[in-house]
Amino acid sequence: MAQRADVLVVGAGVTGLTTAVCLAEQGLAVHIQAIDPPRRTTSAVAAAVLGGPAIADPAEAPNWAPYETTLRWHRTSLEEFGALAERPETGVRITPGRWASKAEIQDTTWTRSLPGYRDCSPEERAGFPVAFWMSLPIVDMHRYLDHLTGRFTAAGGTMTTGRVGSLREAAAEAPVVVNATGAYAHHFAADPKVVPVRGQHVIVENPGLETYFFEFSRGAATTHFMPHGDRLILGGNAGRGDWSLEPDPAQTEQIIARCAAVEPRIADARVLGVEVGLRAARPEIRLEEEVVEGARVIHNYGHSGVAVGMSWGCAREVEQLVLRTVRT
Ligand SMILES: Cc1cc2nc3c(=O)[nH]c(=O)nc-3n(C[C@H](O)[C@H](O)[C@H](O)COP(=O)(O)OP(=O)(O)OC[C@H]3O[C@@H](n4cnc5c(N)ncnc54)[C@H](O)[C@@H]3O)c2cc1C
Repeated sequence: MAQRADVLVVGAGVTGLTTAVCLAEQGLAVHIQAIDPPRRTTSAVAAAVLGGPAIADPAEAPNWAPYETTLRWHRTSLEEFGALAERPETGVRITPGRWASKAEIQDTTWTRSLPGYRDCSPEERAGFPVAFWMSLPIVDMHRYLDHLTGRFTAAGGTMTTGRVGSLREAAAEAPVVVNATGAYAHHFAADPKVVPVRGQHVIVENPGLETYFFEFSRGAATTHFMPHGDRLILGGNAGRGDWSLEPDPAQTEQIIARCAAVEPRIADARVLGVEVGLRAARPEIRLEEEVVEGARVIHNYGHSGVAVGMSWGCAREVEQLVLRTVRT
């Protein structure tokens, strides 16, 4: 860092970048330091669809945070992504897609209020007991991370690659630190509550699909496919506690088979690549501050499989915390 920044953001995934954009656009001098640049993070692997809290049954919602808080973060993100979707170069677009589950939803009030909601016909269900259409933003993460990076530098932000050794080391660099290290907060923040949940995607040539399919049942093996122009992203799986970033050929075959069972055109699609990422699972999202060696450290991690969908809501909340710190 050539000049001492107002804020050091550790991490250049969707969480760190979005937070850094918010702070830099408020006129603060923001520096990002990250081991992996944006295109090599877990964020670059995400499918990515918004909607976790939207489809979660309040009675059974995962404990990302109190349900009302996750809804607030989600709604803020929906608004921001809705505006971004008006500019296709951002990689965001509103797309109709099918949501499917092996389990019944107890309370569908919120789900039914979402744009484009309609029940699937028996043929569209693809054998799932619960299946409905919704139109929500989906995000081509490669293009979107480029967009965020451009927006951050246009606002005067700077970025370097490299490991930050510890919270104490970060605290020596700036009066405010944002910890956006995802699953690696397990080490960086010495937080044993964070565990990796490994996910593998298979990228195939898009055989002409324009709508997506997303299974939201719980479990280690689910089915989703997400079209981003010529690329079609196939998933999914969840390997709890698995830190490996190596593609697993057996999983590749299983993912293709599951997706092809829903959409037969996928069976013969040419495979372009395999990508692996580590979600940061935690009993609840950690968005809070603490003082380390006299610096304010604001943690923003533990978003499990919903960091993209929560990114703007959480970043705006960090922005409020930081502005209170810096400007009072
Ligand atoms: C297969 C798969 C599908 C997914 N689909 C979706 C989806 O549809 N919708 C959705 O919302 N989410 C989805 N997710 C989840 C989403 O990808 C993650 O929640 C999100 O990427 C986490 O972003 P992040 O910025 O918090 O962390 P990351 O993207 O993991 O970034 C962490 C950053 O911290 C840096 N870092 C770590 N330690 C240090 C250190 N000591 N010093 C410096 N830098 C450090 C890393 O280098 C990296 O830059 C999916 C995830 C996977 C794996």
